[in-house]
Amino acid sequence: MDQNEHDENLRRFRDVADKHQLIFNKDKCVYSVESVDLLGYTISQGVLRPDPDRMKPLRKLPVPHSPKSVKRAMGRFSYYSQWIPRFSDKIKPLANATSFPLDSNAYCSSSSSDSLYELHSALCHLGINRLLHFVRSKNLPFSVDDVKRTIKQCQICAKVKPQYAKPNASPLVKATQPFERLSIDFKGPLPSVSTKKYILTVVDEYSRFPFAFPCSDMTSATVIQCLRQLFDLFGMPWTAVNLSPQSNGQCERYNGIIWKAVTLALESLGLKETQWESVLPDALHSVRSLLCTSINCTPHERFFNFTRRSSSGQSIPSWLANPGPILMKKHVRATKYDPLVEEVDLLEANPTYAHVRLPDGRETTVSVRHLAPRGQSISNDNLDHSVLNDNRTMDIAETDVENTTQEATNNTDNTMETSPVIRRSTREIKKPCRFGFDDQLFC
Ligand SMILES: [Zn+2]
Repeated sequence: MDQNEHDENLRRFRDVADKHQLIFNKDKCVYSVESVDLLGYTISQGVLRPDPDRMKPLRKLPVPHSPKSVKRAMGRFSYYSQWIPRFSDKIKPLANATSFPLDSNAYCSSSSSDSLYELHSALCHLGINRLLHFVRSKNLPFSVDDVKRTIKQCQICAKVKPQYAKPNASPLVKATQPFERLSIDFKGPLPSVSTKKYILTVVDEYSRFPFAFPCSDMTSATVIQCLRQLFDLFGMPWTAVNLSPQSNGQCERYNGIIWKAVTLALESLGLKETQWESVLPDALHSVRSLLCTSINCTPHERFFNFTRRSSSGQSIPSWLANPGPILMKKHVRATKYDPLVEEVDLLEANPTYAHVRLPDGRETTVSVRHLAPRGQSISNDNLDHSVLNDNRTMDIAETDVENTTQEATNNTDNTMETSPVIRRSTREIKKPCRFGFDDQLFC
């Protein structure tokens, strides 16, 4: 139908209407259009479609919460059922719903494909990953972008889970060697027995090696005084130290770490918080010599390139720190039934080597890798009581150590025997005869 034909039809219709004295409301008349909205439908080019405006309330229909509202929702949906493929299949979970709130299947069938937001809202404002998982597991027609957009636009999420703006911090240039960049921060005022109420923390960015100075104020003169001590020891840092709050996250975090170590030390020593100054060195020692996961080694190792020693001067296990009987790997054994280790006397040790006296009286240097702690020997007779009485156990252990030490020096044959009370077989053990060679060769 072209415009002329349309105009001709219209003219004839009006003539007839005039003849029968029909009056039209001019505001409600539309002429020469290709589609018309009528009774909830859009009629266009001879095709009937649902009217989008009339669909809007249906799209925003709240999730049914009672059998009555389920009926109402189903009635409204069925009005448009001719445009919904497999309508009866889709509506089945909703029609069968008996419990409220609706389970997820019924919920999905009650919500149109545009209501991702409602889904997000009904499932308690879950995040991108979980919503996407839900959408995929239910085979709903939403993309990753839909999910992201929906959650990004949700005002409730924005309010409850605020994503604070990250101001453009000056890009962190990674330090490549110790004392290249330092971060400085103050902590305090802290309760204190002395006049020192602040801690000035200086952290070397490369190694995370912390320094802390108790200060009485936060003036620049104090800072200069403290830094001068540092610079006298280690020289000037490469880059200017920074005190700006944005780029100082590292130091702030270290303040927390140091203070936590301080409070733990105070707690374990039974001191009050005001006495933090006395345990600060211990706290610093602990932070410096323990693994820092971000650099995967201890700050001390990173800063100085050697292992940190404790106040006892030893960075070796306690059983290597004191002279006394220990176990040494037996490299030559006649049979595989021979003991793995023999008891030797430790004379001195450093982290790598130890000076030991062998059972035959010779002294030699061995690698600490072949040494092991001897443990405390408890004789069979006292074993049962040892659990009951700690003090007695200590006594027994100490006397046993003396006994066995003496025995170890006398007995050169089998040094695994740590207690004289242990019962042994009296059978003579013979070594296997190997090709007629003298057994001595294998000893
Ligand atoms: Zn939300």
